[in-house]
Amino acid sequence: MIGNDKTQTSVSAHLLAPLPYAENALEPVISARTIGFHYGKHHKGYVENLNKLAAGTEFAGMMLQKIVAATVGNPDKVAIFNNASQAWNHTFYWHSLSSQGGGEPPAALKQKIEAAFGNVDACKKELAAAATTQFGSGWAWLVLDGDKLKVVKTANADSPLTKGLKPLLTVDVWEHAYYLDYQNRRADYLAALLDKLIDWNFADGNLRG
Ligand code: MN
Repeated sequence: MIGNDKTQTSVSAHLLAPLPYAENALEPVISARTIGFHYGKHHKGYVENLNKLAAGTEFAGMMLQKIVAATVGNPDKVAIFNNASQAWNHTFYWHSLSSQGGGEPPAALKQKIEAAFGNVDACKKELAAAATTQFGSGWAWLVLDGDKLKVVKTANADSPLTKGLKPLLTVDVWEHAYYLDYQNRRADYLAALLDKLIDWNFADGNLRG
């Protein structure tokens, strides 16, 4: 058991995964105010809702990825799917960003990017295009499909985990991810994030993980 976090209501409750950096670490691209709301209200809210929904059920002590797999497409389990998937997606998103991000990917990832997209810029362009054209709320992802890299987008809480794809990194394009800093300018948020924050090392590690 870890600490005395208020989200931990029982031994089997899901914990809010720690933010891997300070709330102001991603400034000026993403403000501490945005991260404060996004992590401290939105992400925390998904975990709290999940705990309420899962209490006393088989899902209480189940890994998030297992809950996602077990509930996807089940009309009776929409709420638990949405909250479990959003909890997983957000932790993955925090780790997809770094104050040391941007730049050149590590060699193994770069080689795969060049094989799939031609070059790193083309990969970033495809990520930006997927993220800007996701209508309404959702996510853009770099994934491994078999042995090949691909860019995909998912709506609302959905995830590549439910499609047999291995996520390598993600970008949150729900309005709460950028509206305080960029208002309606989703493309500006994406351009800055992909240039300065995207953590290729995380994606590279996931290639082998
Ligand atoms: Mn979000």
